[in-house]
Amino acid sequence: MSSTCFDRIAELVTNRPELGDGSPLGLRTDAAVVVEDGEVVWVGDAGAAPATDDLVELTGRCVLPSFVDSHSHLVFGGERAEEFAARMAGRAYTAGGIRTTIAATRAASVEQLRRRAGQLVTEMRRQGTGVVEIKSGYGAEVATERRSLEVACELTGETTYLGAHVVAPEFVDDPSGYVELVTGEMLDSCAPLARWIDVFVEDGAFDGDQARTILRAGAERGLGARVHANQLGPGPGVQVACEVGAASADHCTHLDERDVAALADSGTVATLVPGAEFSTRSPVYPDGRRLLDAGVTVALATDCNPGTSYTTSMPFVIALAVRDCGLTPSEAVWAATAGGAAALRRDDVGHLGVGAHAWLTVLDAPSHHHLAYRPGVPLARLLAAPQGVPATPPGDGSPGPGWPIPPR
Ligand SMILES: [Zn+2]
Repeated sequence: MSSTCFDRIAELVTNRPELGDGSPLGLRTDAAVVVEDGEVVWVGDAGAAPATDDLVELTGRCVLPSFVDSHSHLVFGGERAEEFAARMAGRAYTAGGIRTTIAATRAASVEQLRRRAGQLVTEMRRQGTGVVEIKSGYGAEVATERRSLEVACELTGETTYLGAHVVAPEFVDDPSGYVELVTGEMLDSCAPLARWIDVFVEDGAFDGDQARTILRAGAERGLGARVHANQLGPGPGVQVACEVGAASADHCTHLDERDVAALADSGTVATLVPGAEFSTRSPVYPDGRRLLDAGVTVALATDCNPGTSYTTSMPFVIALAVRDCGLTPSEAVWAATAGGAAALRRDDVGHLGVGAHAWLTVLDAPSHHHLAYRPGVPLARLLAAPQGVPATPPGDGSPGPGWPIPPR
């Protein structure tokens, strides 16, 4: 048993309205939090906490629940910096991108995949992220999809089988054959390693009927549904997500009134990943304002991947969401914490109520507004973590094999 009091916090974001000012962020000023054995056990006024083994004073700083990054693709081989540079130089984006990563991922050893993914999780932790979801999807063949999920399982309990990322190169002339593989042998191999199943619904990827088939096959194996929906243009992704009761529809960049209404009625979270719009220089960003005004639950995530959003930074995503998706700074912080938890159907993270996992992030700044107000500035870092997870990087802190994360 060991207990720590984080005291003299200038602003505490609890995400529990009743613990604070009644707003969704449940803000308290001059506050304290007590953590015992990796759990939040007390929240109250500065100087009023029960006795603890350790005391950490955080005068002038803001403390919030660690970010929940509910959408990432961290297991891959190779990088695509040249493709990015060419795109930014105005050269046309070629469809070869994702296939380049598939080839590099198939060629990578488990050790290479593990080292890269671990480094990226370490980057995330350094910027204040606690829970992260990690997808497969750069194998597009049974063995590599399984290997990708084995690596993901070492890093998180929130693993997602994304065999249906794109049709594998071997099946370009036989997409239904690939759907059969994804819902058959590949699913058999991957389902035991995954909590979720995801499908990329887009022209050139999978259509609505294929997505239904894939998500239903996953549901029969106990996998919850998530969908890459309406990223590059209008399409059936959001409707399919709401129809099958997906936890989240991700991207949501091109929505019509029916899509917004379906999200509001279904309880499916809309997860915005504006790092993708930024990195592809998209003229259109998801309209978060419209979604919030319609009553949709909105989450923010990095979509970290080597092609279209190679960032691990939730603070950067928060700044983008405020600047380009119409969220207020407070709404963006909620979406990056409690919103991410909702997108993973978790009630034990994303807030600092008693009993929550002790994922705490501290800002070298007095309020949560500074995350969007000071873009690109490294203000956020992990302050505390559940048992078995060090809050500071292991070893000398240099990029290494990664930050160990216990299963949920
Ligand atoms: Zn994605």
